Formats: sequence, structure tokens, C-alpha cells
Amino acid sequence: MVRWAIAATWPFGQMAVEVGSRLLASGVMGIDAVEEAVRAVELDPSIDSVGVGGIPNIEGEVQLDAALMRGRDLAVGAVAGVKGFSSPVGIARLVLEKTPHHLLVGEGAERYADAHGLERSQLLTQSSLEAWQKRREQLAQASSSPEVPGSHDTIGVVALDQRGGITAGTSTSGLAMKLPGRVGDSPLVGSGFYADDLAGAAVATGCGELIMRGCLSYAIVDLMRSGASPQEACGDALGGLVRRLEKDLPVRSATEDMTKMAVLAIDGEGNVGAAANHAEFDYAYCTSKEGKLHLVRASIIN
Ligand code: ASP
Repeated sequence: MVRWAIAATWPFGQMAVEVGSRLLASGVMGIDAVEEAVRAVELDPSIDSVGVGGIPNIEGEVQLDAALMRGRDLAVGAVAGVKGFSSPVGIARLVLEKTPHHLLVGEGAERYADAHGLERSQLLTQSSLEAWQKRREQLAQASSSPEVPGSHDTIGVVALDQRGGITAGTSTSGLAMKLPGRVGDSPLVGSGFYADDLAGAAVATGCGELIMRGCLSYAIVDLMRSGASPQEACGDALGGLVRRLEKDLPVRSATEDMTKMAVLAIDGEGNVGAAANHAEFDYAYCTSKEGKLHLVRASIIN
């Protein structure tokens, strides 16, 4: 029997899984393990799509989105468009624990973090500034349908703890060169994340504008509730959304990158599944049964 399990998006998810599995093995609650797992990625300046060193918006400012959901009571804490704090998932945790609300945005979230003594910090690094300057030059040179390289990713973590608690967490700087105030799927309950102890948890990464059209994470958890495995639920929910949007992909003037989506899920037995509509989605996972970290390429939906 699996006592605990944790999975995280992208190769940088390995760091999250390492931190989270140590905590889960020691018996801490899933929400603490997931928060720390997400924070490890947020604080690493070499990961250019999350937290410190994240991708700036079109005005050169790093605006972050993050969330946590506790499957025991469906409690949610999320923040969006937050500037100047290295660990937005920490603010999301405060929102979950200490407010009657689920989502705080922008200045309100920043003031709330100040009031709870979280330290302000510089998010723009030399390399995120240089990458932003390069993108700005490329955009200025491109005539129509500009490709914006370097794009985006989200750390998404799902976990089962030793008490049977299921948690989901996310954190991202969102799309490169986004408009100030743009919010993706990652802090939106049901779209970028969902967790229910009675069914499982899911997180999403990729083009938030598409993911939110299908409330993908909720759709996956709902399929698991009806008996689907995490793998079946990920494939069916993502496949259904892609088929529904087929004639609209790529959307408007979006680039090919803006058609990409990937999902990751876990159930109450610690089974993990994932799916993507492209060939580049790797995820990391570890369970108490094997005790060793795996990095796996997700299956592509057909
Ligand atoms: N889903 C994120 C967003 O749209 C970006 C990503 O995961 O690639 O903000």
C-alpha cells in the first residue's frame, strides 16, 4: 500500500518532489509539504518561469500567480498579479488559513502579505531582465503574429499524505510579455488546480487562456470521482477540450506555443497520471512504495 505520494510538473518539479517527499515521509500534512515543495522552486532564481527570476510582463515587471487547495474541506487560498514577493504560495497559504476569502489580487494581496510580515524582495534578476530586453527587441522587429520565445511554465504539485489528505498547489509568472494584470489558470480554482480527498487532485500547465475554457483540473477530478484512473481522467479531460476547441486552435493570432496544455493528477491510492497535447511534458513523482524519484514523459493525447 502507498502511504504517501507526490508529483510535480516539468523537470524542475524534481526539486519540488525531493523537498515534498522528505516532508511527507516524516508525516507532515500534505498542505505543508506542497507549500514547501512549491516554495523551493519559487526561490530558485535559475527557474525562469516561477518566483524569483520569473518572466516579466510587457512592462518588464514580474507579476506572480499562485494557489493551494486542501482536499479535506475543499479550502482554497490563491493570489494573482502579485509583485515583489519571492514566495506567492506563502501568501496563498495565509489567504487559505486566515481569511474568509479564496483569492486576493495585486495590491490587496501585497498589502495583506506586508501586514503578515512577509518580506518584499527583488524578483527581476540580471538574466530575466536580459531575456525581457531580448524579447522586446524581437517583438519590435516582428511584423505580424510575433513569436515570443522563452515563454512560460508552472510548478504544479499534487500530493497524498499519510492521513489520506490530498493537496494541490501551483505557482507561475504566467505568460512572457503578458499585459499587466493578465491572470492565467494557475490561481483559478478548477482551472489550474483542484483537490478533493474524496476523489483526487489535478494541476495544469500551458496556455492558461485555453485551460480555463475547460476548467480542466475540475474536469479531471470529477472524472476520477466517477471511477476513472488519474491517467484516464487526464487523457479524457484534455482530449475532450482539445477536440472541442480544435477548429479554434491556434486561437486568434496566437503562436503554436499558445496551443500547448498539459495536466497531472493523483488519486487517493497514490496513483499518478498525466497527459499533454504536445511531446515535451515531463513530470516528476515519488511514492512511499518505491521511495525513489522518477522523471517521466507524459503520454500525448490522441
Ligand atoms: N498556465 C500558465 C499561465 O497561463 C503558464 C504555464 O503553465 O505555462 O499563466
